[in-house]
Amino acid sequence: GAQLPRPTRRRIMAVANQKGGVGKTTTTVNIAVSLALHGNRVLVIDLDPQGNASTGLGVDHHAGVPSIYESLIDNVPLDEVVARVEGIPNLVCAPATIDLAGAEIELVSVVARESRLKRAIEAYPEELDYVLIDCPPSLGLLTVNALVAAEEVMIPIQCEYYALEGLGQLIRNIDLVQAHLNPKIEVSTILLTMYDRRTRLADQVEQEVRSYFTDKVLQAVIPRNVRVSEAPSYGQSVMTYDPGSRGATSYFEAAQEIAQRGAKLGGSA
Ligand code: ADP
Ligand code: MG
Repeated sequence: GAQLPRPTRRRIMAVANQKGGVGKTTTTVNIAVSLALHGNRVLVIDLDPQGNASTGLGVDHHAGVPSIYESLIDNVPLDEVVARVEGIPNLVCAPATIDLAGAEIELVSVVARESRLKRAIEAYPEELDYVLIDCPPSLGLLTVNALVAAEEVMIPIQCEYYALEGLGQLIRNIDLVQAHLNPKIEVSTILLTMYDRRTRLADQVEQEVRSYFTDKVLQAVIPRNVRVSEAPSYGQSVMTYDPGSRGATSYFEAAQEIAQRGAKLGGSA
């Protein structure tokens, strides 16, 4: 199909929101596949011990598989833990196994504990257009590693009651990381997910988010769509599971906007 423009320089995006179930993993997987199917070289880093992004991409992540844990804790180079994603050229994934659940604690006593992921990504030998980091639903050291490694944060917001609760804490943490660890980090992208157009509430949340985050909010909105939630049980993104579904077309629109913004970035990293 038509290509999506490649960014002027590699973009590293942390997909973060400490609330669970807001669509972080779904967004990571479907944006990554959309970009990769349309000419971008993409690395997904699964930074959630649940390993849902690995599952959603059909990447093996049973205990014992080389994973992001080994890169973070044992200095195993990232290219030795990444797996190709079947059927999607240009897409690789560093899987998460259950070992990662211990990393939050183990990292505390590791040298340069906040910048382990950054170091691993910097040493990655292949050229990439996008690195998408699927964060866990917490603001611990794993998420801090993502915020130190990235230049952009993409925040999925579920269009429901309490959607904005907790966002203040996330923004404060991003500000702290920016002040002390990574001056480049910024919230670049907000994506409204699981939108139910039948409810007035969704519309109210959308208006509130757009008035606060203005042009960071993508025009594309992801509807609640059962095909999106079915896809992971087949080890697939909705982009390949049901490309004609409203979930897939909406995620493609979101990827298109992300890519168009990337093509306009100035300078080099
Ligand atoms: P998080 O990573 O933030 O915890 P997930 O991406 O895992 O959130 O999404 C939570 C649940 O909602 C999953 O079961 C997922 O399949 C489902 N889901 C996500 N987006 C949609 C959508 N647009 N339509 C229907 N179900 C969705
Ligand atoms: Mg998740």
